[in-house]
Amino acid sequence: MSSKIRVRFAPSPTGPLHIGGVRTALYNYLLARKLGGTFLLRIEDTDQTRFVPGAEDYILESLAWLGIMPDEGVGIGGPHAPYRQSERKDLYKAYADELIANGKAYFAFDSSEELDAIRAVYESKGTAFQYNALTRVKLKNSLSMSPEAIEEALASGQPYVIRLKVPAKAEIRFQDSIRDWVHVHTSSMDDKVLMKSDGMPTYHLANVVDDHIMEITHVIRGEEWLPSAPLHILLYQAFGWQAPQFAHLPLLLKPEGNGKLSKRDADLGGFPVFPLAWTDPQTGTVSKGFKQEGYLPEATLNFLAFLGWNPGTEQELFSLDELVQAFSLERINKAGAKFDVNKAKWFNEQYLKQHPVAELAKDYLPNIGQEQAEAYVHLFLDRITFPQELGQKVAEFLELPSEYDETVLANKWNPEAQNGLLAIQNCLDAIQDWHAESIKQAIHETLELAGIKMGKVMQMLRVALSGNGAGPDLMISIELWGKEQVGQRLSTALAQFPKLSE
Ligand code: GLU
Repeated sequence: MSSKIRVRFAPSPTGPLHIGGVRTALYNYLLARKLGGTFLLRIEDTDQTRFVPGAEDYILESLAWLGIMPDEGVGIGGPHAPYRQSERKDLYKAYADELIANGKAYFAFDSSEELDAIRAVYESKGTAFQYNALTRVKLKNSLSMSPEAIEEALASGQPYVIRLKVPAKAEIRFQDSIRDWVHVHTSSMDDKVLMKSDGMPTYHLANVVDDHIMEITHVIRGEEWLPSAPLHILLYQAFGWQAPQFAHLPLLLKPEGNGKLSKRDADLGGFPVFPLAWTDPQTGTVSKGFKQEGYLPEATLNFLAFLGWNPGTEQELFSLDELVQAFSLERINKAGAKFDVNKAKWFNEQYLKQHPVAELAKDYLPNIGQEQAEAYVHLFLDRITFPQELGQKVAEFLELPSEYDETVLANKWNPEAQNGLLAIQNCLDAIQDWHAESIKQAIHETLELAGIKMGKVMQMLRVALSGNGAGPDLMISIELWGKEQVGQRLSTALAQFPKLSE
């Protein structure tokens, strides 16, 4: 099957792309790369009432940030251009007409007021109205009207929609790559609208027609589209086309694992569910983005790949290329995937450590000289989750201690420690080569000479210099503070610590 694989990501520009949509794009991309196929990006913008300006650019920028690059599609072009459905509008009508000609679809002239009234009657009886094989005979459509009446309605320009004639008693079956066999009886389906009265196709028609024309072999999409799949199968049958292989991806669940992940969960939990920050053009509300929160693209990709898929091994860190190698539809889970933001943070910490130090220094500590900045990055790299914490870390590091850790003082401040700090104070001046290694050696020798164990003094030295009982590598910290600072900090501390006599 290899070189013929064609998959697509087909988002609707109705707002910022949800992180679940990014996962869908990623899985499509991975399958295409793995099997030497083609990944295309199609923008499904036929529902003009839901169109949001900026949403399409947002989709393109999100994919570009993560390196999920399509081979064909909006922004790239390709043999099936245009890839924006609003620019393919005229094409769908011919397909709807074909279904009418074959008796698979029909014109329906019922106005929305009429349908609302019928719906209300059904509701008052406690049932739901469906436009289907049982009810369509009593409604205003080309199946119930005389040929003359239809002719007249069309000639007079009466608005109409085109509906699919869903067969009365049929079972629809298809095998989903993830959910396995899905069975649906047509009695539970209604005659879905394929063309709206404004001449625009609905999502269902445009989606199926384009997947066919664009020779899509695998439709990989979110589970929320599973209920539409039987209708899509019916459409393929109505056209006499072969349906693609479907794969419906598991839902993303709330961090606690109960229910679908929502933007509200994100707001409450203070974490992003969008790849990039997004400002709502109407309300001005800003939603957090993975990128702006400080997640690296590699970490975001790795985190997303594991939301619903696993390699079946212990390995957790995967580059995009490694994901391509390891990926398969067979290893996607049926069960929903818990969105665990702590896991995302863990991935970020791992990738931060692999990130070029020079780049982090340049981007996040721009004003202190490259060499110095790189030294700080080394010092704090395993103590941060996001690179923008670096600035704050450096600021705190350079602040003079305003208080000293009382627990450590209570436990470790004794005559031996006092002698140790005094000895260190005396030896500092003599250190010529102010580097972590030589400082360490000098301190070591001094203490040995005084008969004091390093272990008895070092934590007190840290408290004296920084105020804190724990922190980054002490010798490198001493190097970075510089001789003069260290001398000052030490004498300030010694002046404030209680004087002890032996
Ligand atoms: N336009 C649909 C969406 O916004 C596409 C669903 C599909 O992939 O068929 O998700």
